[in-house]
Amino acid sequence: MHDLTLCVHHPRVDEDGYASLAVPTHRASTIVYPDAKTFAARKYRGFDGYTYGLHGTPTTRTLEAQLTALHGGVRTVLVPSGQAAVTIVMLSVLMPGDKVLIPDHVYPPVRSFCAEYLAPRGIAYGVYDPLIGSGIADLIDETVKLVWVESPGSGTMEVQDVPAIVAAAKAKGALVGCDNTWATPLIFKPLEHGADFACEALTKYVGGHSDLLLGSVTVKDMALREKMKETLRAFGVGVSPDECQLALRGIETMGLRVAHMGKVSEDFARRLTKSPAVETVLHPALPSCPGHDIWKRDMGRSSGVFSAVLRPVAEATLEAALTALKVFAIGASWGGTRSLIAPMAVAGDRTVNPWTYEGTVLRISIGLEDPDDLWNDLDALLVKLERVPAASAA
Ligand SMILES: *Cc1c(COP(=O)(O)O)cnc(C)c1O
Repeated sequence: MHDLTLCVHHPRVDEDGYASLAVPTHRASTIVYPDAKTFAARKYRGFDGYTYGLHGTPTTRTLEAQLTALHGGVRTVLVPSGQAAVTIVMLSVLMPGDKVLIPDHVYPPVRSFCAEYLAPRGIAYGVYDPLIGSGIADLIDETVKLVWVESPGSGTMEVQDVPAIVAAAKAKGALVGCDNTWATPLIFKPLEHGADFACEALTKYVGGHSDLLLGSVTVKDMALREKMKETLRAFGVGVSPDECQLALRGIETMGLRVAHMGKVSEDFARRLTKSPAVETVLHPALPSCPGHDIWKRDMGRSSGVFSAVLRPVAEATLEAALTALKVFAIGASWGGTRSLIAPMAVAGDRTVNPWTYEGTVLRISIGLEDPDDLWNDLDALLVKLERVPAASAA
């Protein structure tokens, strides 16, 4: 062989005796075949075979299999973000004339997707009270093909009665999809409670380091997996093995991270209830949180995200107090090692249950810093807000 060929052909090396604990990153666009006959028959390999890098490599399959095992499903489909996990389910099962029901507290971009993408294409959506429970039966007519749940709601933390909603949906032949990002499969397994789709924003706790974007949908019915894979193939959507490798590293420590963050978040939530600057604390582990009893029944453990509703204070005071934080960072996409705080405007996202609190909702995501440093930072914020005389409140 000449040099130019030697540059292109990688020599085979002996892998005998090479046993590593790390999952290799298999990158590929093209998959090659041993002969022309196998190449011609490639489409018969199906979605579990290897045909093209876009449809999976051993690295992406490893992450899929790991999530499938954690959720007790049959297959997992990976997508480039948590938002895509939700939209791929909707795009795969809804046809013009169908309707999807979403909870009032749903991750806001999902509501936008329903309003701005599905509705103009003849797929209707309805919004329901997240605490509706079995009452959802009244909203399910023959056009409703999918009921979406998100429990707890990632901003305002209402815990949904997933088993009751599943029972009502099944009775009317509708599918149920669950955004399980807050709980992770370690705290709640939607498929075991009857849901058809368990979605995770892997961006959050599975990735765990604020450096990747991925989503997953796990199912217990192969036919639903086929539908999603067909949709992804049609759109030309796949995931990067590099992102999956990071997720495979992250998932190894997820158990310890989430357990620690959950303990600290419960502790901080209780402490925050004592501050005069706080109107109420929305944490599933506190009785003041809507759906707390359901959390006790179905989950019993927490991850690191919760919200504090502040008493109304002047915007300028709050902004200055947030900017002065030294350990918490201001940001939205939680689940990493750094603790985050995000002031949220909830009212504009509600159409069923008007949001009646006037103060800002602070969404807090606990990270892995020393809890004393975190509490000192939060306490300094509270002291600033407590000092504001009631008369100057906005
Ligand atoms: C973050 C999040 C998403 C979206 O995940 P991305 O990977 O950022 O698209 C969806 N649902 C919930 C509940 C989330 O917290």
